[in-house]
Amino acid sequence: MNIVNTIEEVRDKVKSWRKEGSTIGLVTTMGYLHEGHESLIKRAVSENDKVVVSVFVNPTQFGPNEDLKTYPRDITRDGELCESAGASLIFNPEPSTMYYKDASTTINVKGLTEGLCGAKRPVHFGGVCLVVSKLFNIVTPDRAYFGEKDAQQLAVIKRMVRDLNFNIEIIGCPIIREADGLAKSSRNAYLSKDERKAAVVLSKSLECGKKALNSGERNADKVKKIIIQKLNSESLAKIDYVEIVDSLNLKPVSNIDGNILVAIAVYIGKIRLIDNFTFKI
Ligand code: AMP
Repeated sequence: MNIVNTIEEVRDKVKSWRKEGSTIGLVTTMGYLHEGHESLIKRAVSENDKVVVSVFVNPTQFGPNEDLKTYPRDITRDGELCESAGASLIFNPEPSTMYYKDASTTINVKGLTEGLCGAKRPVHFGGVCLVVSKLFNIVTPDRAYFGEKDAQQLAVIKRMVRDLNFNIEIIGCPIIREADGLAKSSRNAYLSKDERKAAVVLSKSLECGKKALNSGERNADKVKKIIIQKLNSESLAKIDYVEIVDSLNLKPVSNIDGNILVAIAVYIGKIRLIDNFTFKI
């Protein structure tokens, strides 16, 4: 697999591909790749001539007490997965390559970043928007692929792309899950055996919520209560949030109508996991 570390190498590659008339897809990741990332890469490969995968544990999107230092890393394995999925290039920069010491530009997508994970992780989306826009400027892709697992991130990126006139199509891809329903995540690697078993309660609780919606429940508080009850049945689970919001503006709803997003964040032991589903009336 062709793995490069500098912005110049990416720009040279992109230039030669553009000369050939190739289209370019981008998948941005923090590495420790799994089948969720693989599904994005394969989708990108099927829709573009060349695919760049960025592998970068982005320091600006981690809060001071978060897991930046311990975030799992394995670039050799990531290279193998990208190769077999058909990617053309991995961009794996050092933080010093991505950020000037005296960088002074920030990106703030207002409103959409204030609730859900943004309320709990105040610096997170600023860091995500900054790194994603830098990667957009370095790779200049035609299309970029993001997982619906990070539903708020997807909504924020779409808004940023619209507001800043990036000429890039943003494509959302479905959540890939383990056989028992747990959404795949690099952070699942942190879970002990017992925690891994307990973590299935996230998707199970969402199934309970979906069942209530399918049987006609339209009161958001009642649906949330059903999800919370299921989560509380697992002693290793500690709820961070359970929210039902409008899919587009991410504002909480009380009566369920139109397109909604049901999103949860739950600690299993010390590990914070997220999951969600969308529902359309
Ligand atoms: P990350 O490496 O966690 O920053 O994720 C990189 C990209 O992969 C993001 O667009 C995520 O939403 C996406 N992703 C992560 N896990 C999954 C999953 N289980 N299913 C689909 N996409 C995912």
